[in-house]
Amino acid sequence: MRRNRRTKLIATLGPASQEDNVVRKLFEAGADVFRINMSHSSHAVLKERVVQLRRIEAELDRPIGILADLQGPKLRVGTFAAPPVMLEKGQSFVLDADTTPGDATRVHLPHPEILEALRPGHRVLIDDGKLLFVVTDASPKRVTIRVEVAGAISNKKGVSLPDTLLPSSALTDKDRADLLAALDAGVDWIALSFVQRPEDVAEVKKIARGRALVMSKLEKPQAIERLEEIMELSDALMVARGDLGVEMPLEVVPGLQKRITRMARKLGKPVVIATQMLESMILSPVPTRAEVSDVATAVFEGADAVMLSAESAAGQYPVEAVETMNRIAEAVEKDANYIVLLAGQRTPPESTGADAIAAAARSVAETLDLKAIVAWTASGATALRIARERPYPPILTLTTSMQTARRLALVWGVHAVVGEDPKDVDDMARLGARIAREQEFASPGQRVILVAGVPFGTPGATNMLRIAFVGATG
Ligand code: PEP
Repeated sequence: MRRNRRTKLIATLGPASQEDNVVRKLFEAGADVFRINMSHSSHAVLKERVVQLRRIEAELDRPIGILADLQGPKLRVGTFAAPPVMLEKGQSFVLDADTTPGDATRVHLPHPEILEALRPGHRVLIDDGKLLFVVTDASPKRVTIRVEVAGAISNKKGVSLPDTLLPSSALTDKDRADLLAALDAGVDWIALSFVQRPEDVAEVKKIARGRALVMSKLEKPQAIERLEEIMELSDALMVARGDLGVEMPLEVVPGLQKRITRMARKLGKPVVIATQMLESMILSPVPTRAEVSDVATAVFEGADAVMLSAESAAGQYPVEAVETMNRIAEAVEKDANYIVLLAGQRTPPESTGADAIAAAARSVAETLDLKAIVAWTASGATALRIARERPYPPILTLTTSMQTARRLALVWGVHAVVGEDPKDVDDMARLGARIAREQEFASPGQRVILVAGVPFGTPGATNMLRIAFVGATG
C-alpha cells in the first residue's frame, strides 16, 4: 500500500481510538505514525498499545511509527477549600509552600524549586493562560503575585511561566520511568515536552542510547532562545503550538512555526506541526475553513508531518479527522505552487558525499522525469538527506532494518520497505526496479534512479547513482 502524498500524518491514540478496528481504520485513512500521550497512559496501557500497533503493522505489512510523548514538568497549583475561587483584577494573591487548602488569598504551589526561581516582574499564567499574574514579591517559600487578567481559579490548574528558567531538567521522575517503559516497549520516537536547554535533549539521548530517536517539543520561550543548539542535538522537532501559544503571544506562533520548519529542513531533521489542527472535528464531522487552511499552510511549508491530538484520541470523528487531513495534504501537494514553494526554500547541500549524491539524485530524477528515487539506507541518514532536497519524485527507501523503516514513517516523502541488501551492483538494479514496480511507484518501461553505498550495508558510504529500467518481471 502506498500513500498519494509526501506529508506524513500522526494520530494520537486515546479512548476514541482504542479498538483494533478503529486503529486499523486510522492507518488505512492515512495515519503513518501513532502517538501515545504519557500524560494519560499507564505503563500497562503503553505496552498494550505497542503490542496492538505491532500486530496491526504485521497484518497490514507496512511499517508503523510509534511516538511516546513524555508529559514533562507540567506545573499545577494545589487544591482549594471551596473551589472555584474568583480573583479580581489588581488584587494580590500568594503561591506558597503551605499544603493547607487554598482560598481567595493564597494557594499551595507544590513545586518548591519554582517558588525559589520566581522573581519580581515574572509573569505567571494559570489555566492555559486564562488568568495572568505578575510577581510583586518573591521569597523561597512564598511568592506574591498581582492579578492582571482576572477569573476563576480551581484545583490543580496548570501553571505556565514564560519568563522563568526552570531549574529542573525537562525530565521529571515520572518522565524518567515513562521513558524507560517506552524504550522497553520498543517505541520508535520519544517526544520530550517543555525542552528549555540542549542539555535536556542530551539527557534523554543518553538514556535512550539509540534505542529510540528523540523529538524535542518546542513550546517554551527559553527553547526558542536556544533554538539552533536544541535543533542540532535533536533527531526531530515538534512545533507544540498548544503550550507555545500560552507561553508566547499567540500572534508570534505562526512566524515561529515557519522559522522552525525552515530551519529543520535546512538541518535535515523531521519537523511536526501539532495541536488544534482540526480542533472542531472533536465534535463535528467537518472542519472549519480556517482549520483546512492551517493544515494546508503546514503542508505548503514542507513540514514532514501534521498531527492530530484530541481529534483522534478523544473526539467523536477520529477516522474522519485523519481522512480530512489526508485529503488536504493530497490536494495541496497537487497544487502547482507546492513544488515551486518547496524548491524556493531549498538550501545548498552540505559538502558531504551523501548530500552531493542526494542533490544529484533529485536533479537527475526531476530532469528525466524518473518515477522514484530508490535509496538503500541502513540508519536512515541517506533517506533524511534525500528528503531534505524535497524532490518531486517519491523516495522509495530500502533497508534491512525494521527499526529504520519505522522511524522513517515520520519523514517527508519516504516510503520505506524492509528487505535484503543486494549481492552486487547488478542485483541492486534488479532489486530496486522490482520493488519500485511491486510497490506501485513505476510501471514496466519506466525508469527510476537508484542511490546506494557500495560496499552494501556500510553506514555513511553513499557513493553511487544509477538509472534503471523497470521490467515486466524480475
Ligand atoms: C502542545 O502543547 O502543543 C503539545 C503537543 O503538547 P501536549 O498535547 O502534550 O500538551
